[in-house]
Amino acid sequence: MANIIALVGRPNVGKSTFFNRLLQKREAIVDSVSGVTRDRHYGKSDWNGVDFSVIDTGGYIKGSDDIFEDEIRKQVELAIDEASAIIFLVDVTEGVVDMDQEVAQLLRKTKKPVFLVVNKVDNSMLETSAMEFYSLGFDKYYTISGMTGSGTGDLLDDVVATF
Ligand code: GDP
Ligand code: MG
Repeated sequence: MANIIALVGRPNVGKSTFFNRLLQKREAIVDSVSGVTRDRHYGKSDWNGVDFSVIDTGGYIKGSDDIFEDEIRKQVELAIDEASAIIFLVDVTEGVVDMDQEVAQLLRKTKKPVFLVVNKVDNSMLETSAMEFYSLGFDKYYTISGMTGSGTGDLLDDVVATF
């Protein structure tokens, strides 16, 4: 079976930035599909010699908070169906918000590997702030900066090890 990594999380946590980093210097398959999947971007990459596809979810979610939540729920459910591993991104600069709790709850339904990733940890001062994400109920989390790339190697080592 194909190795598929899905990036999920509420808007603005940095999914697309991380997606673009994963695909750097590679040809992105940017495919807009109609209907519920219209906001999903697919790309291919590899790490430690392991090939995988990445799905960036929730590209153009617009509207009220209710619509947000409904769309995010759909995206998370699709990710659970399609992916071999799920990267759940949160934002250290915002801390834990209700929508993170809701996504965490949806992800508890799957037996697939889920990696909680605290993004925007651009410097070591922010490592301490990341600890509040233990409240989402995961055994561990990874800290990365999608912008600088720091932490992404350790994360990918562990993700591809599940394939
Ligand atoms: P998405 O909505 O989850 O796809 O989030 P985006 O990738 O569009 O990023 C939302 C905002 O966060 C943008 O302004 C990014 O430049 C910013 N951002 C993404 N990753 C990082 C990061 O690692 N550090 C910082 N400081 N900002 C980031
Ligand atoms: Mg995006």
